[in-house]
Amino acid sequence: MSTQILEGLNDAQREAASYTGGPLLIVAGPGSGKTRVLTFRIAYLISTGVAPFEIMALTFTNKAAREMKERITKVVGDRARFVYAGTFHSLFARFLRSDADKLGFPKDFSIYDTDDSRSLINKIVKEAGLDPKVYAPAGVLSRISNAKSSLISPAGYAAKPELINDDRRIGMPAMVQIYTSYQTRLKQAGAMDFDDLLFNFYRLLREQEPVCQKYRDKFKHILVDEFQDTNFLQYAILRKLCKDGLNPSTISAVGDDAQSIYAFRGATIDNIFDFETDFPTLKTVKLEQNYRSTHHIVEAANKIISHNSRQIKKTIWTEKGEGNRIKIIKTSSDQEEGKRVADLIIEHKNRYQLRNTDFAILYRTNAQARIFEEMLRRYNIAYRVYGGMSFFQRKEVKDLLAYLRLTVNPYDEEAMRRVINLPRRGIGDTLIDKIVKLAQTQNLRFWDAVRNFTGEPRETRALGTFIAMVNNFKDIAARLPADKAARNIYQASGLQEMLKADSTKEGLERQELCESVLNGIAEFVAQDEIIVNDDFLTDDRSLSRYLQNIALITDADQSADGDLITLMSVHSAKGLEFKSVFVTGLEEHLFPSRRALQEPGGIDEERRLFYVAVTRAEMLLSLTYSMTRYQFGKQVFNQPSRFLTDIGPDHVETTTPLAGGLRTGATEAPARSGVQGLPRPTRPAPKVDLTNFKASPIHTITP
Ligand code: ATP
Ligand code: MG
Repeated sequence: MSTQILEGLNDAQREAASYTGGPLLIVAGPGSGKTRVLTFRIAYLISTGVAPFEIMALTFTNKAAREMKERITKVVGDRARFVYAGTFHSLFARFLRSDADKLGFPKDFSIYDTDDSRSLINKIVKEAGLDPKVYAPAGVLSRISNAKSSLISPAGYAAKPELINDDRRIGMPAMVQIYTSYQTRLKQAGAMDFDDLLFNFYRLLREQEPVCQKYRDKFKHILVDEFQDTNFLQYAILRKLCKDGLNPSTISAVGDDAQSIYAFRGATIDNIFDFETDFPTLKTVKLEQNYRSTHHIVEAANKIISHNSRQIKKTIWTEKGEGNRIKIIKTSSDQEEGKRVADLIIEHKNRYQLRNTDFAILYRTNAQARIFEEMLRRYNIAYRVYGGMSFFQRKEVKDLLAYLRLTVNPYDEEAMRRVINLPRRGIGDTLIDKIVKLAQTQNLRFWDAVRNFTGEPRETRALGTFIAMVNNFKDIAARLPADKAARNIYQASGLQEMLKADSTKEGLERQELCESVLNGIAEFVAQDEIIVNDDFLTDDRSLSRYLQNIALITDADQSADGDLITLMSVHSAKGLEFKSVFVTGLEEHLFPSRRALQEPGGIDEERRLFYVAVTRAEMLLSLTYSMTRYQFGKQVFNQPSRFLTDIGPDHVETTTPLAGGLRTGATEAPARSGVQGLPRPTRPAPKVDLTNFKASPIHTITP
């Protein structure tokens, strides 16, 4: 039985999938079956008697986890759903739900999304009388995020002269003060931001031996996909779970150093190199056969990556035949680029009998999607854009969710301040300012300040009604199932009536958005119950659980129904494959990006990104660039990307007028007109180089 399961694998893959001798690392190129090996490995382990809930599989998106589970289900049946598969964030959020109290958080803690985090930073900056232009929320948040990814707490930050000096140098000396307040305010709000889901889980493992032991005992196998994009913090957690390398519990990681594309988020290829040192009994497996792409694509990819100096050498070959050469398409404008892509899609569909789902249009920046959307619509081709505003970020949806959030956790300051006067109930900005003052002077949490506030009778009355309403919501949620409670709260908050009052088309759309949230909750409640057979798998269908689930849904996780063309950024395309791929906007300053040109190592990272893009293609690869395009509201003139010349002539369709403008970008000065045509970029988000501070995770954490 067990060995039968591995039949769809080659020898090296089979060896990896069935290896149980200890830690395992597969470093191999794109399309070599790394993800497939992990999937088969899980099925294999289950077939040999490992309980599904003793297996943790960490994937890049929740969708990837779902797909993995579906495949495992086909092999070992329904029990596959008990496997813990998900992103680092979603799994650790789940674990924190049972153990957050040990860190002084409520188990029903709120999860702040990026908007919430930025809004909180805004408040802190404002309240401290700092200049919001200097301390722009996005920049401050990315610095805080970098610190957390390097295991640096506020106290740790304050104790690092390098960081403090760096902040002074760039004119942001209050960073440490903001970071400290930010963490305090999150704690007071019973909330964690995305990074905290990792950071706090790490602290839990580090500070609470019995809890750590519980997870070590529980997970007999930990599998990690896309290991090259884990950051230092994620790796530190893995190391903890494996008892710093001593635990027999096997960790198996698969990755490709050449596909590492998240350095800007703190991911470090060093994790791959450290892995060998940290796990001395590590077995390393290489996979060399590419099962995804035809010869020209594989060889072009090899050529591209050979221009990067630092990489683990790999040989990759394919048996999938010669295949088509790569098309390079030069256009005069981005409009024309859109049109040429749409035309080629039609041609490919007819000539190769392809469906829409076989196509992907990839780009470096999400703003490029618009032109393709326009053209596809004109051609009546169905598509789906990933990475736009997700459903859960829409204003009305966030408003309704804010009511649900404060029902579960009234200390959730961001949720409360979002809706405290929505619809208007006499709690305007002046009154809010007074409450904030009270909170500051008496060091109260926002909700406590609301409850303790006494002002003019009108103010006290307005607050009294609001307080009674929130308390009533709590009762409703305690009495009713989540879906009924949510609908009740939607009505009782006045939100429904407010939206109903607007009978315009937009008004109706807003109501529909809220209705879909409510329907979503009903679906969540009606889901098959999961049998409780260990500590973590529960049939919890509470509002709190629902909120936590959706907090971590990203646009990439939402499934698309129907036969649609995929439009997405190259970053989101990681791990995916399509028969025909268009990599667009291959121009200097766009791909590679302007910013990458200015940063050390920037070009190499962009080249890896290009490598990821190219290796998504199974049989048809088209690369496009345009001599002009509209960017930031202006027409700019561009030079072809240096990456186009990396490929060399051998694998490119000769009919393409390669000479027409394609020159060696690498040695050229930046395109003159391109630079002049562009407004100067706004102050780049400040970035600290935290790479030097990765050293020991031990001394930096303070509770
Ligand atoms: P990436 O680095 O892009 O994530 P990967 O190494 O994870 O790629 P997979 O996605 O697992 O590669 O595999 C690429 C394709 O090749 C998939 O369609 C997979 O099903 C197929 N494949 C892998 N191994 C085999 C095999 N032994 N037999 C048949 N098909 C295979
Ligand atoms: Mg993969």
